[in-house]
Amino acid sequence: MSRQQIRSNQLITTFGPGAMVDLPHKSIIVAGLEKWAFEPGKPCLVEEPRLAAKLARLLRQQNQSFKGYSIELRTPPPSGDAMFQRGLITPGVTGYIFPHWFIVQNVVLTPQKNRRRRLVMVEQLNDGTGKFRDHDNKNYSVVPVRFVRACRKGHVGDIQWREFAHGGQTTCQQDLWMEERGTTGDLADVWIICDCGAVRSMSESAEKGELGTCNGSRPWLDDSERVCGEPQPSKPGPRPSWS
Ligand SMILES: [Zn+2]
Ligand SMILES: [Zn+2]
Repeated sequence: MSRQQIRSNQLITTFGPGAMVDLPHKSIIVAGLEKWAFEPGKPCLVEEPRLAAKLARLLRQQNQSFKGYSIELRTPPPSGDAMFQRGLITPGVTGYIFPHWFIVQNVVLTPQKNRRRRLVMVEQLNDGTGKFRDHDNKNYSVVPVRFVRACRKGHVGDIQWREFAHGGQTTCQQDLWMEERGTTGDLADVWIICDCGAVRSMSESAEKGELGTCNGSRPWLDDSERVCGEPQPSKPGPRPSWS
């Protein structure tokens, strides 16, 4: 398979709305159903009238606002085959880039022989190539940072890396780094460092409240932030290794 694809039945199970999908150079979060685009005249309907009627009945029992709505069952919209063969991918299923922070694949060895890589935001990447132009004027590939924050109610969001490194609110805009001080990949071996001298171990991010309280963000719905307030430890993302 030359391009990463997801089968329809994967979209119904593992990679439904809100799931993170690891692509070669970025990861995305699958958008809610309202952002899935069906081609005109191809609604991908599934004819199961008895199941649809039962679901409608159950939903109306649970939530009065479903009264007046009927249920329609559909398969996920396929990407257009002709467009796909021409290299023009027009997915019917929307995905948003998430997380918005990346690790630059340019290892700098510290005097202590630790491996250090830049931590950059999506806005710092080249629009066309998705690469990062470093201070040496070379373009480097990036991989998504493998840590995001999550709360018990299911909200997820980016870790506020600047605030984390500085231990609270900051106006510092100097370069950020992620440094490995061991080979285990354990949180205690991963350090977040700012060029101003601020430094913090990722092991602290796992402690309750260290990442602040949840703002209720649901990036797969593209909606405004809502109040949640749960304390949020960090949550490793889908990438098994960040090298
Ligand atoms: Zn700083
Ligand atoms: Zn929350």
